[in-house]
Amino acid sequence: MIIIDLASKILADGYVCDHCLGRQFAKLLSGYSNKDRGNIVRNAVAFALDSGDTIKIDPVNLQDIKFRTYKIKKMQVPVCKVCDNIFLQVPEKSERVIENIKDSEFDTILVGARLSGRLIDNEEQLWESVGTEFCESIKMELSRFMGQFITTKIKKDLDRANPQITVVYDFEENDFEIGIGSLFIYGKYKKFMRGIPQTKWPCSKCRGLGCDSCDWTGKQYKETVEELIAAPVLEETEGINSKFHGAGREDIDALNLCGREFVLEIQEPVKRSIDLVKLEKEINKINKDKVSVSELAFSDKKTVVDLKEKKADKTYFAVVELDAPITEADIKKIDVLKGKIIKQETPERVTHRRADITRERKVIDISCEFIDSKNIRIKVKGEAGLYIKELISSDNGRTKPSVSALLGVGATVTALDVVDIE
Ligand SMILES: [Zn+2]
Ligand SMILES: [Zn+2]
Repeated sequence: MIIIDLASKILADGYVCDHCLGRQFAKLLSGYSNKDRGNIVRNAVAFALDSGDTIKIDPVNLQDIKFRTYKIKKMQVPVCKVCDNIFLQVPEKSERVIENIKDSEFDTILVGARLSGRLIDNEEQLWESVGTEFCESIKMELSRFMGQFITTKIKKDLDRANPQITVVYDFEENDFEIGIGSLFIYGKYKKFMRGIPQTKWPCSKCRGLGCDSCDWTGKQYKETVEELIAAPVLEETEGINSKFHGAGREDIDALNLCGREFVLEIQEPVKRSIDLVKLEKEINKINKDKVSVSELAFSDKKTVVDLKEKKADKTYFAVVELDAPITEADIKKIDVLKGKIIKQETPERVTHRRADITRERKVIDISCEFIDSKNIRIKVKGEAGLYIKELISSDNGRTKPSVSALLGVGATVTALDVVDIE
């Protein structure tokens, strides 16, 4: 009876509440709260006692149970020796939080609890003396318990990945912080005017501090794609700041007529339920002849990461082993790859999950370092989607041209690092 054994250790000396008792069995059964688990285990122990089992339990843990045969002496129930009855404080503290967020516009929330070191010590001592392997931490349970209380009360959803509001309640200080999650808006933009950088660019003279030559704006360029698009959105959402996440970027002097994906992040928005169709029209009207946006849609942090990975030019460092010796002069042969369009059939290593097509990607820059006759190091900046290992090995002739073909020896990448994504 491992459960009764563990329970008797937990309840042997001093009062432990249902939350703290149940939490030691948190990894057993699902669909129960820890409070439920604690109640069940406590009753199971009581059954055993009433049937005549001899288990050493501090009677203070059995005050509410009506036994038929087992005799206990009545005493006042003190505070839980693990949590100081902290769970009983949750309703009142939650009400304080609700009072502060009830006027904000949001659908999802995440609640976290911060605890005093003493309570965490209490719990660790318990774990040490009991040795249960089914437990979770008090911080986890308290955060979840408070989160459930608040969301039920205000009818919002708990969201771990993309909460619009985060609350951290510090139980030691009896105070809390409210964080307002960014609003993310996806879209595509076009740029019709040269000389506009994508994002803010600090003045080269004052580095953004403000000087005569930048007219005390701190900016090298008066306008950026980011600001042109973000200004009306900031106004609409009453956010405090914006961040622009583009899927790569064009040069300042280059136009972009094909549309480039972006996610605009608005920090600390007051309003979230904005009319994107209307906003799109407004942005395009204000910025006529400069930039335009299309396909605006609400988005999230994950999309930002996806965008960055999908379209970014990347720079790699590759350590390469050769199967026949070369001379130091030979590595110059690799220079011809600079600026070259590489034809790559789908690499053998991925053909089982991708259609077999030939793609064309550019080597933007490449340089090579001679280590010895059979080992070289290559730094290569490639257009998004360039297969680097194949560029070097030739993938049995499926990639043309290649480092291997240019050197006339077999070449294998033994280590590959991404050193820059832009
Ligand atoms: Zn407790
Ligand atoms: Zn300046």
